Amino acid sequence: MRSIRARLTLAYAIALGVTLLVFAAVMVSASRRAAQNVLQRRVDNVVMLGSAILEQAGTSLFESVVVAEDPGASPPLSASVGSRLATLPGYVIIADSSRLLYATASVAQLSPKAQAQLRQAVFRVFTPAQPAGIITIDGPPTRLFVQVAFDRPSQRGSGLRVVAAESADELDLVRLDIFAPILVTFPLIFLLSVIAAWGLAGVNLEPVDHLIADLEAIEDGRSLHRRLPVETDENELDRLAERINAMIARLEGSFAALRRFTADASHELKTPLTVLRADIERAMTAPGAGGDQLPALEEALAETARMADLVDSLLTLARADEGRFDIHREPLELVPMVEDVFETAQILGEEAGITVTLLALEPVAVQGDPVRLRQLFLNLLTNAIKYTSRGGTVTVALERRGEFAALAVHDTGVGIAAADLPYIFDRFWRADRARSRSAERGGFGLGLAIAQWITHAHGGTITVASRLGRGSTFTVTIPATALPPRVESGAAD
Ligand code: ADP
Repeated sequence: MRSIRARLTLAYAIALGVTLLVFAAVMVSASRRAAQNVLQRRVDNVVMLGSAILEQAGTSLFESVVVAEDPGASPPLSASVGSRLATLPGYVIIADSSRLLYATASVAQLSPKAQAQLRQAVFRVFTPAQPAGIITIDGPPTRLFVQVAFDRPSQRGSGLRVVAAESADELDLVRLDIFAPILVTFPLIFLLSVIAAWGLAGVNLEPVDHLIADLEAIEDGRSLHRRLPVETDENELDRLAERINAMIARLEGSFAALRRFTADASHELKTPLTVLRADIERAMTAPGAGGDQLPALEEALAETARMADLVDSLLTLARADEGRFDIHREPLELVPMVEDVFETAQILGEEAGITVTLLALEPVAVQGDPVRLRQLFLNLLTNAIKYTSRGGTVTVALERRGEFAALAVHDTGVGIAAADLPYIFDRFWRADRARSRSAERGGFGLGLAIAQWITHAHGGTITVASRLGRGSTFTVTIPATALPPRVESGAAD
């Protein structure tokens, strides 16, 4: 569960689920209580009616026996009172403090065991302090709601008990009645609400997605001029975007200062290096120079040249970063340029004992900067020679691939480990394995960074395929243009 959207929806689902469960429980218990109240009122009414019938009966109370436990005893209730009581619904019993005087036919239909349990409840369970409640009788097991009215007026000296009871099974039916709609509607409500919550969370988090997309566009020091859109300063995301913008502005300032420093420092170093170089050369060619000093002067000259190269590369990259380095693009045929670079590479290859061959040379033109593209191609070829052992081969191929001009430089050299490939175009990055040799040959790890910058400035791509110990292939593709019309030979330059 990683996304905020999923987490919000889950939290909402849990809260809603708990709420619905509590609500269902409250509804079930409230409706049960309401049903019990209705039942109680009904039974109350029966008790009141029973009491009223007894009161009206007056002197005719003892005319004949309707129900008596002891046939020898005096008749407890008259037939007319009994017939009126028989019209009452449910179970009705009239008793004095110790004897059952009357019971409706519904009581007589109960099993003997159930009748005994009901009688016991009338005399033992219910008291004036607790005159009503639910009891369970057997055969078949039934729950009865019983209400007893004590001390009803009687002409026999002692108070009569009027007992009314009704089946309490309907209370369970009420619970079932309410469960069915709950079981159908609540899951439906839950499902629809969770879907709505998922949708709402998505809508509300959309600005966050936009923020992430905008931030992703600011991927390196060169895109620090971009800012996140801030519509109002009211919501949290806008405040966040404002804070991020302020941070980007500070970063932009620091980056600019750093780049300016590198550019200025490189620029300032150029002149003293040139002077130094000239001085060393003069010292080497001065009359009387030589002997022990010459190797030291030669080394100093080589190091000065290396340092000048470094300063040049740094200046190139610093200016490119600042956007100050304009590329001067013009319609350019690549064949003469590649031929020229190939010749230089052949000379370098001969010195290093490496065969340099031209595999393909298809006529193709680009809109490009001749100086920079030459630098790019030469860089790839010198690298190929630099990182290939004596006896190896370097091949060059210029092809037209659809809409692109492609230059591939392949070597059978040391290769690059798969783990190193992602860093190959980083500044100052050099594979450890090759370090000692490249140091000999003066590499700083800036050549490929510059090559990549030149390619990107031409709207192209540079890729590398390599296997350690097997060699590498660097491929540059640049959008091709139509070949410029052929001009007379000799006027090409
Ligand atoms: P350097 O001046 O050190 O050659 P680059 O930026 O041109 O700097 O290259 C960076 C690193 O990439 C090199 O140090 C080397 O380890 C590796 N590399 C570049 N080209 C090749 C190649 N053709 N074969 C093997 N490794 C290479």
